[in-house]
Amino acid sequence: MIGVRRSAQAPRVLMDSGAQNRYRHDDVVDQLMKDFHGKCYICEIDDLQSIEVEHLLPHHNGKYPDRMFEWNNLFLSCRHCNSVKTRRNTTNA
Ligand SMILES: [Zn+2]
Repeated sequence: MIGVRRSAQAPRVLMDSGAQNRYRHDDVVDQLMKDFHGKCYICEIDDLQSIEVEHLLPHHNGKYPDRMFEWNNLFLSCRHCNSVKTRRNTTNA
């Protein structure tokens, strides 16, 4: 897991309650790419073919909506790591 110096300022789009799936908005992804130096936070691959926005604490299909848009809960991951973690998190869904 890489050490991250996250921008203190969350992307403004996260505060826009009207934007669907705003944690995957371009502004969020761009900021994560900068803060994570374009690396998956789990395997540290820096050649991301498909970028995923990962929630450190799961949001469980809207059960914890605050987490879904919490800037400090959003991490950059590759598709492989995200799918592995998602399977683990959904066993009790
Ligand atoms: Zn990865």
